Amino acid sequence: MLYEFSVGQLACVVVSDGQPAPPFEPPLEQFFTPDSGVPADALRAAAVREDRSTLTCGYNCLFVSTPDGMAVVDTGLGASFLGYGEYIEPLVGQLEHGMDDVGLSRATLAAVVFTHLHQDHSRGAIWSGEVRFPAATAYAHASEVAFWKGPVELPSAQPHLAAARETIRLFGERMRPFEHDTELLPGIRAVAAPGHTPGHSAILLESGGERLLCVGDTFYDPLQLTNPTWSTPWDLDRPVSVATRRAMLERAADEQLMIHAYHLPFPGLGHVQRTSTGTFSWHPLR
Ligand SMILES: [Zn+2]
Repeated sequence: MLYEFSVGQLACVVVSDGQPAPPFEPPLEQFFTPDSGVPADALRAAAVREDRSTLTCGYNCLFVSTPDGMAVVDTGLGASFLGYGEYIEPLVGQLEHGMDDVGLSRATLAAVVFTHLHQDHSRGAIWSGEVRFPAATAYAHASEVAFWKGPVELPSAQPHLAAARETIRLFGERMRPFEHDTELLPGIRAVAAPGHTPGHSAILLESGGERLLCVGDTFYDPLQLTNPTWSTPWDLDRPVSVATRRAMLERAADEQLMIHAYHLPFPGLGHVQRTSTGTFSWHPLR
């Protein structure tokens, strides 16, 4: 699945790494649990209101053509992926097929920008045991790199540890840890969005008076716009993730930013509006 658009002079294309379809969509209660701040009765009521019991978890990788070469924001799960169970494998790891379809070369990709180093964002860059984009420089926040290099004990971080460490190791000197509010590439800037992981970052594209904010894993489902306090088991610091989510949603609504949400249904593009009850609503581009 491919979706081409532009942000000012930056030509962009969302290439899907995959999107599990029914009956393989994950159940809501796998993402929203009492431990992640979602009371079971509140989730049941939401499921009745929305007439659904699952969520559509896509993997929307965003390619941006910059004056310094082609960049991708996050790289999907990679081929031969088994970490979420065997059923998902044929449905993901499609990034490189999509690149072929749109004429994007692995060999000449200039940059890989990671919102964070969870396996569903990093493994597409390293799944074969070597960097899939041999000419690319990688960018991840300095505290993200430091976190995964250190002693990681949180149980919910364990499934991501191998891919995060392998990404750091394989890129080696070509992994450039960044600080926030610095321009990584022309028109591409990183914005602090911690909580999901210590160095989780939003990526702001800006060109010709147009802007797009990639929010990474700030939310997985529109239910987190109507309920910004809802976190998931993968938000490593829940209170910080809630504060970040609220701040991002306020900014998105008040500045009328186009949003790219990695896990929302393909292509994950849309706008956020404030509601009369002090929460937010999602308005997909299509
Ligand atoms: Zn993710």
